[in-house]
Amino acid sequence: MPSGFDLDSLLHFNPPHYVCERCFALLTDVPANFAYRCPVCDVAYVPTDEFPSVGDYLSARGLALAYEDVMAHGQRLAEIARRTRAGLTGQLPDYTPMRALLEAIGSAQHCVHFTTFGISAWFVGALKMAAQYIDVRGVISGIKRDEVFRELTTYAGDAPRLQTRLFGQESQWFPHQKIIVIDGLIAFKGSANLTDIGWRKAAHGREVVEVITDIAEVIELNNRFFSPVWVGFEQRAQPEAPNTAASSYGR
Ligand SMILES: [Zn+2]
Repeated sequence: MPSGFDLDSLLHFNPPHYVCERCFALLTDVPANFAYRCPVCDVAYVPTDEFPSVGDYLSARGLALAYEDVMAHGQRLAEIARRTRAGLTGQLPDYTPMRALLEAIGSAQHCVHFTTFGISAWFVGALKMAAQYIDVRGVISGIKRDEVFRELTTYAGDAPRLQTRLFGQESQWFPHQKIIVIDGLIAFKGSANLTDIGWRKAAHGREVVEVITDIAEVIELNNRFFSPVWVGFEQRAQPEAPNTAASSYGR
């Protein structure tokens, strides 16, 4: 039996079309002209004269995941994922997990969402660079009041499109699953935190990193591990710095 590409699989290609304004859940199958509730945070979107469809409203807010050429973009991300797996299994030893992550973030056209316990200054710099062009949103726990904290608070204005929810070390919230979601199309998950040490350990198998290309699983990871924590932050006491959490949601 020859094996090849089954055209039928194109019918199962259902990438997310929008992100929720409040929780940044990845949304598929948003109805055209009806009221809609976010399946993750339950915020209600109600059509108005100005925005007769939810999609129009989210698009006007810059929350549509509208790719110029979604197939070409998907192929590029799939190539990164394939190289990542080859790197992790030793078939492509020069393609380290760090390189994979940097290439994936650098390829993003819309947004990067992540959760981590701690973050190194090195990664904050990389994410601030990416946030000059795309939206980067992260939930970070285990934050200490050090220079990284100041980068994310006092100097947040260097990269307004990098938005973070910060939990201190005393916080009860610790992510057991670390994820990085690129454009709602691929994700990295595993034990490695967003520290240069963590991702370099992953090259030697001392941290677990896995790349996910099943879009349904990518959406599930984002909507289960990122969005509920992001929106749950609204109910929590804020850390001392008033600009710790940049807010552009919840209208
Ligand atoms: Zn939501």
